[in-house]
Amino acid sequence: MAKTRIAFIKVNMMYSKGKDALKPLVFPIVEALTPDDFDISFYDERIESLPDKPDADIVAFSVETFAAKHAYELADKYKKYGLRTVMGGFHASAMPDEVLKHADTVLVGDAEDTWVSYLEDVKNGCVKQRYDSKNQCSMACVNNNSHCFDGKKYLRLGMVQASRGCKYNCDFCSIKSLYPSGVRQKDIDDVIKEIKNSRERLIFFIDDNLFVNEKTARELFTAMRPLKKRWACQISMDIAFNDELLTLMRESGCIMVLIGFESLNAKNLELMHKSANIGVKDYEAAIRNIYRHGIMIYAMFVLGYDHDTARSIKETYEFAMKNHLAVANFNPLMILPGTSLYKRMEEKGLMRFDKWWLDDEYRYGDAMFYPESMTCDELMEGCRAARYDFNTFRNILKRMFGAKVNHQGVFGSIVFVLINLISRSEIHRKQGGFLGSVMKGDT
Ligand code: SF4
Repeated sequence: MAKTRIAFIKVNMMYSKGKDALKPLVFPIVEALTPDDFDISFYDERIESLPDKPDADIVAFSVETFAAKHAYELADKYKKYGLRTVMGGFHASAMPDEVLKHADTVLVGDAEDTWVSYLEDVKNGCVKQRYDSKNQCSMACVNNNSHCFDGKKYLRLGMVQASRGCKYNCDFCSIKSLYPSGVRQKDIDDVIKEIKNSRERLIFFIDDNLFVNEKTARELFTAMRPLKKRWACQISMDIAFNDELLTLMRESGCIMVLIGFESLNAKNLELMHKSANIGVKDYEAAIRNIYRHGIMIYAMFVLGYDHDTARSIKETYEFAMKNHLAVANFNPLMILPGTSLYKRMEEKGLMRFDKWWLDDEYRYGDAMFYPESMTCDELMEGCRAARYDFNTFRNILKRMFGAKVNHQGVFGSIVFVLINLISRSEIHRKQGGFLGSVMKGDT
């Protein structure tokens, strides 16, 4: 009997291809979950063009909110060709009813149980419209050198995930709506196995917050010490004065941490329930302590909360320059569906677009809402200026040589330069771009 053919697509959010694409771990996870009686191929539209009509019976999409509009355009087109469509991923989990207007089936939550049930029903000819994950699946070891990445050009980073979920509950963050039942962790032996198997010297943990608790962090960093890899991760601010863990991180090869600083204003931190940062009274002392351990900082700021004015954006930029942050994102507050912030803004009638991710007028970098203490243009223009100014060649060099941590050794210096060049080019590519309609500009 002929195998059912599946084309699995990671959808791009806008018309041009990027230089910062990371290997999507969903590919090897889905590949491992797909039984032999299916024939599956993988496309990553962020780095390659899609066939006009995939040679498949089913087209499956992994969809983020920024890419939703384009995923719907593709699903509508493929359905006209008579192909069956299914969507999963963050946006599908947050907006399943919207997804079902375009796809035949929606998978809500983890792929580990929904994808398996869906394929079982495909085999038995009894496919449902919607599959809901119990979000309790254990995290299996992932083959991060899988053949599904063959021939695709990604940043040369080994991708690893040690946990899902976060111990905090910031009001703008989608993590709680995706993983409502708390944090799940992968067995540390499996994490170590994945890191050992990874061909790349530099590892990136895709966990939203690697600092689940002291004990696990200590075990993980200790087990990583002999591997002689270099690594980076996203981690909450409560690590900043934990000298024991910072020492272990550095000794095990950590070179950079991505931290959500979010705001310099304590009232904004309260408003966003940013518990990890509220206790840290002095951001500059926190930065100095992380630098003291030889770790670079990639800082993320969100701008436009109620107590932010146009001046706050300038002050945030000056803070980032003064402290020689290796990288900094100056993002107008993004309001993602499924978050408590979205609900609050909608109830207060402050959303600028009904659904910004579908709106033809919305462009990347626009204000999605009406801020309390500045205009939409001040927010958009202030963030654009901060992004551009922070990433001029002059300022990249200033930051590099302004802090010893940013030019430590050949490897650290190369990472600093590469990440800044990629970041600069991506900012210029994305700022002001329309979402969707990739088909019109770049097939
Ligand atoms: S600490 Fe980070 S990952 Fe955790 S809820 Fe807040 S923003 Fe989300």
